[in-house]
Amino acid sequence: MSENKLNIQMVDLKSQYLKIKSQVDLAISEVINSTQFINGSHVKGFQSELADYMGVKHVITCGNGTDALQIAMMGLGLKPGDEVITPSFTYIATTEVIALLGLKPVFVDCDPKTFNISVNEIEKAITNKTKAIVPVHLFGQSSNMNSIMDLAKKYKLFVIEDNAQAIGCDYYGFSETQKTGTIGDVGCTSFFPSKNLGCYGDGGALMTNNDDLAEKFKMIANHGQSKKYYHDRVGCNSRLDNLQAAVLRIKLKELDNYIKSRMIAADYYDEKLRDNPFLEIPFRDSKSNHVFHQYTIKLSEEINRDHLIQFLTSKDIPAMVYYPVPAHQQKMFTNIPASVKSMKSTEWLSQRVISLPMHTELSIKQQDFIIENITNFLKNLK
Ligand SMILES: *Cc1c(COP(=O)(O)O)cnc(C)c1O
Repeated sequence: MSENKLNIQMVDLKSQYLKIKSQVDLAISEVINSTQFINGSHVKGFQSELADYMGVKHVITCGNGTDALQIAMMGLGLKPGDEVITPSFTYIATTEVIALLGLKPVFVDCDPKTFNISVNEIEKAITNKTKAIVPVHLFGQSSNMNSIMDLAKKYKLFVIEDNAQAIGCDYYGFSETQKTGTIGDVGCTSFFPSKNLGCYGDGGALMTNNDDLAEKFKMIANHGQSKKYYHDRVGCNSRLDNLQAAVLRIKLKELDNYIKSRMIAADYYDEKLRDNPFLEIPFRDSKSNHVFHQYTIKLSEEINRDHLIQFLTSKDIPAMVYYPVPAHQQKMFTNIPASVKSMKSTEWLSQRVISLPMHTELSIKQQDFIIENITNFLKNLK
């Protein structure tokens, strides 16, 4: 078979769409016919269906995941100068909103096994100005929420979960299983098309069990409005539109199947790559499942990552580096007051990680081809 025919992509949204095409097309044309583009019935319906799925009291949808983080920090009343603890090994949005609001990002190293924020490093970074911790459940696996919630209680800090990559992930650390994103004061997520629950444009949401916070988030996302044309505080304009909500209602019903497909694909990669001495497969933390937004491996130091990527590209196999530059090394923070702790693991990982194609439509044939080529490349180095 020619390499092109396999059509391997990092994320295959087209094949996924084709399986739900008739439902999606119908829903979209109904919304257009209704001309209810903003605040339509699907937005309400989706909010309540997602709240049920997550086991959380309130879901407030908004324009995207970055806005969700911003609205969360505004709603919690964080003020310029307040310190917010964040991992540096994350997508830039997490850290950008901290700076945007004039808060001080305190970058903390990650655990090289899980890629998630290191709990030991969090405690060392806490000062009397610290107001919040933002754990990011990176690549689809929960941060250590037991310890993070303990620290938050001990030092009276807010916890804002960045759940953009882990929607549907179960955390087993407490007496009852909880979904990530519902454990802290507020959880933020993104419906960017390539996320595990993605729409056909931009979208995001906040979730919380706190009634007062829910009211604040709603108000902030809607120009600080308490009733029509009465604006009590400075907010922003951030909403999920009705077309996106209609698509998301259909895809939410598939989410558990989508997660299962990702897990099956991850198990297969694991099985075939586990014994390779030149790489490390993803670590699975027993306190949560892993919903595999990304399948990210670590290459040993004798491997030239660029050469591997070039080789895979020549075989029409995409591979990506999430993330090549940690947040604390981004130019955007050059002139911003920030605190950078030891970043040994983060900096090492940014040089060694590589993410393989991972999505709901991966076939065994495609995976075999990916695995065979990686294995061949690594073997030939000897
Ligand atoms: C995608 C993502 C975001 C931002 O979501 P957008 O909808 O693109 O604004 C924030 N944090 C993490 C970890 C993400 O992966």
